[in-house]
Amino acid sequence: MLTNQTRKNILTNVKRILIKIGSAVLTGEEGLNLNIIEQLVDEIAELKRKGYEVMLVTSGAIASGKHRMGIKGDLKSMPQKQAAAAIGQGRLMRVYSNTFGKHGLFVAQILLTMSDLTDRKRFLNIRNTLSTLMDWGVIAIINENDTVAVDEIKFGDNDHLAATVTNIIGAHLLINLTSTDGLYDRNPLKSGEAKLLPLVEEITEKIEAMATEEANSVGTGGMKSKILAAKKVTAFGIPCIIAPGRRKDVLQDVLAGKEIGTLFLPMDECLTSRKYWIAFTLKSRGKLFIDEGAKKALLEQGKSLLPSGIAMVEGNFGVGDPATCVDRNGTPLAKGLVNYSAAEIRKIMGLKTSEVEQVLGYKDYDEIIHRNNLVLIK
Ligand code: GLU
Repeated sequence: MLTNQTRKNILTNVKRILIKIGSAVLTGEEGLNLNIIEQLVDEIAELKRKGYEVMLVTSGAIASGKHRMGIKGDLKSMPQKQAAAAIGQGRLMRVYSNTFGKHGLFVAQILLTMSDLTDRKRFLNIRNTLSTLMDWGVIAIINENDTVAVDEIKFGDNDHLAATVTNIIGAHLLINLTSTDGLYDRNPLKSGEAKLLPLVEEITEKIEAMATEEANSVGTGGMKSKILAAKKVTAFGIPCIIAPGRRKDVLQDVLAGKEIGTLFLPMDECLTSRKYWIAFTLKSRGKLFIDEGAKKALLEQGKSLLPSGIAMVEGNFGVGDPATCVDRNGTPLAKGLVNYSAAEIRKIMGLKTSEVEQVLGYKDYDEIIHRNNLVLIK
């Protein structure tokens, strides 16, 4: 059972954090909300004092520039947005620089586009710069380089950018600060029944469907892009928290393991709990005797079990049942969920994957046990 202890366990190992702050948190009718910025900067300075390494991905340039120009309503064209970003970015940095300066902290501006990261050389340069800034204890403040970014070289939203940078710097956690309390099971603006999810073990289609694409008038991404960002980092083995950016002490409380926002568990964790379930909760319904080649593929190469590697079947299990893979002496090697029944496996064992359909008249899967459903027995 995943409890609040799970959250605490994950957060105690965190040292390097990427914090993403959305426009909806930082800006309001009056452009940049200086009180909120100060509140967050104070908190980040406190984290630094506690020994955390922190990097920021921050929006707010366009909203700030737009306010500067006295423009109400949406900006109409891409060049207008880019121009507003160019105006606002300087102000955004000045505010951060002054506010962090009160704590004796320096900031560095990093503006990135997608194409910077798909180019291997530039990617390495960026990573080296970011890691040097971290060594120097300087707060890197990252935003999309809106001046040059259009369409295919654009991240599109800062959630995507934040997820990418989280992976690049090997952060231990992405905290995505937003204007809502976290992920709700339905749109909280439309339904009073909406419930906040404190923990998401795995980002399934159902979870994705809970998020709307509707962004507020100042941000671009909406919850959908936050979920996609969470998906990207959790797939990488990094947890992500979507939390309310204006809540007082949000960062301290999140890191103390208090139940705030929505925590998305890293894939490794998911696999671990799922594999725990396969290994310890489910009772094996039969045995698959495998040959030396398959043994090597499973134990040393991280591969799935194919029909060709099976020499003998024991038991009478159905599709989806757990079975134990044993070597020719009967020593258990692995346990997993089978894609074919015992009767089917008896017909196709020893065959090449390409021959399965000929024998069975169908081939729903290439593997007898897919790697994702397999646990090695140590
Ligand atoms: N880069 C934009 C800005 O700083 C924001 C993009 C976004 O909100 O995702 O205003």
